[in-house]
Amino acid sequence: MAHYDLFVIGGGSGGIACARRAASHGARVALAEAGRLGGTCVIRGCVPKKLMHYAARLRDRLSLLPGYGFDLDPPVFDFRRLLENRNREIRRLEGIYHTLLESSGVHLYRGRARIDSDGTPPHGVVVDGERHTAERVVVAVGSRPVLPDVPGIEHAVTSDFLLEEVYEQPRRMVVVGAGYIGIELASIFNALGTRVQLVMRRELPLRGFDQELRIEIAEALVQAGIDLVPEARVERIEASDGTKLVVTDRGVLEADLVLFATGRHAIPNTRGLGLAEAGVRMTLDGVIHVDVGYETNVPGIHAIGDCSDHAGHGLDPSQHDLTPVAIAEGRALAERWFNDNPEVVNYETIPTAVFGLPEAASVGLGEERARALGYAVEVYRTRFRPMLYTLPGLERRFFAKLVVDADSDRVLGLHVVGEDAAEIVQGFAVAMTAGATKRHFDETVALHPTSAEELVLMYQPVSGAAGERTS
Ligand code: FAD
Ligand code: NDP
Repeated sequence: MAHYDLFVIGGGSGGIACARRAASHGARVALAEAGRLGGTCVIRGCVPKKLMHYAARLRDRLSLLPGYGFDLDPPVFDFRRLLENRNREIRRLEGIYHTLLESSGVHLYRGRARIDSDGTPPHGVVVDGERHTAERVVVAVGSRPVLPDVPGIEHAVTSDFLLEEVYEQPRRMVVVGAGYIGIELASIFNALGTRVQLVMRRELPLRGFDQELRIEIAEALVQAGIDLVPEARVERIEASDGTKLVVTDRGVLEADLVLFATGRHAIPNTRGLGLAEAGVRMTLDGVIHVDVGYETNVPGIHAIGDCSDHAGHGLDPSQHDLTPVAIAEGRALAERWFNDNPEVVNYETIPTAVFGLPEAASVGLGEERARALGYAVEVYRTRFRPMLYTLPGLERRFFAKLVVDADSDRVLGLHVVGEDAAEIVQGFAVAMTAGATKRHFDETVALHPTSAEELVLMYQPVSGAAGERTS
């Protein structure tokens, strides 16, 4: 048994960041990880996804080559090699996380941890039958994919399988769910040559994003060759001779592989963790309630990242289930406790991107949300064909939109769909965090010739409501 200033449960984005920062300020820190070090983002999330996104982008780029004078034989694509190279890189990163954690002085326990506490600090944490104590416990156990209770659901896979395993490329694929993961993986497989059908239970993908951005993405996905099946409900999945039949109320879809990307829940990770026994309050989905200091209702037990409700920030608890948010929350705690630094996380201007083809990225408020909050909304919007696509003769678009508060001139939201949207929005997020006004945008000299320059060249507000095509 050992005693620590801080015991972190979960070696993912938030947990590792919190533990390392605390140790760097001299705290005695332990971290328990039940699986692979690095958590969702590194092992089966952002990183393997982005590597596959790069492959998909390269494949997509081939369609531009003839217009620029290149004639290539059809290239040979080895899907398995891509997955093997991807996995090798992930193992390398996993090793780096291990080295970084050890060299920072954090004591690493490999095993499933459980809190053993009557609700008063110091709290007990049990790993592999051994009980340790800590003044503070940070729960950073993340979430897992949820599968709805549909007959035949055992024939479907989740993103965990697609991003961690090595398998044959499917010829036909049905993706159910049109959130981040559904759009990203549908885009990747489509660009790599799989025929993809995307089943959405609503008319548009990406609920919670600006309405026009959602329309833009839906149109772009269709243009890219993905079959959208909107307002559809999956009734059951059948399997015969290796083919899966996804039976929906809109017809039967055939596939070699069925992906369910229908959201993630904290409950599989927070159940059995000793939280209920310690008196910690959670939602029915197992999401841990925390206050602005990421503390639960039990003193000394804190929660960060995907397993928490992010102190009520955001429209729903999962809106901020993003790696940089988990990291920022973990570091903020370590800074406050061990470096007397009271800086808090700014949730107003968290940028986010959906790495589809094309990418969609946003920072700040969507038009509808800004109106609902009572702002005097002015909208600036542009939609055009970027120069990149002119020689190849492709009708692809770039869409950008600013949501401005007419009273204060503050730019409340910025939304982009198109090539490099994520890279562009990261830059503008700095300006938004600094409180940029529309006037600041107008006063900024354009960087020519780029697509991003159009964001500082929108002088006339548009009058149409969201979704109405006025430009
Ligand atoms: P996690 O990273 O999930 O870490 C939790 C860790 O706790 C896990 O390693 C788990 O094994 C461990 N654990 C659980 N229970 C216990 C226990 N009892 N004892 C010990 N250890 C335990 N975010 C982005 O910002 N950008 C992206 O591009 C992006 N892409 C994504 C793509 C996919 C397919 C997915 C699924 C997610 C993606 N995310 C992305 C979200 C991002 O991965 C998460 O928000 C982030 O990983 C959350 O970090 P966390 O520390 O809260 O939890
Ligand atoms: P999302 O919540 O983004 O999307 C889930 C999708 O599944 C929605 O379209 C939802 O529809 C639909 N859905 C939910 N339940 C059902 C059901 N029973 N039947 C049919 N459809 C259903 O979750 P994801 O799984 O895509 O991603 C989980 C989280 O991971 C994200 O919220 C995000 O925080 C993080 N992530 C971030 C990424 C990034 O930053 N680039 C990439 C990938 C993941 P409806 O809209 O109607 O609810």
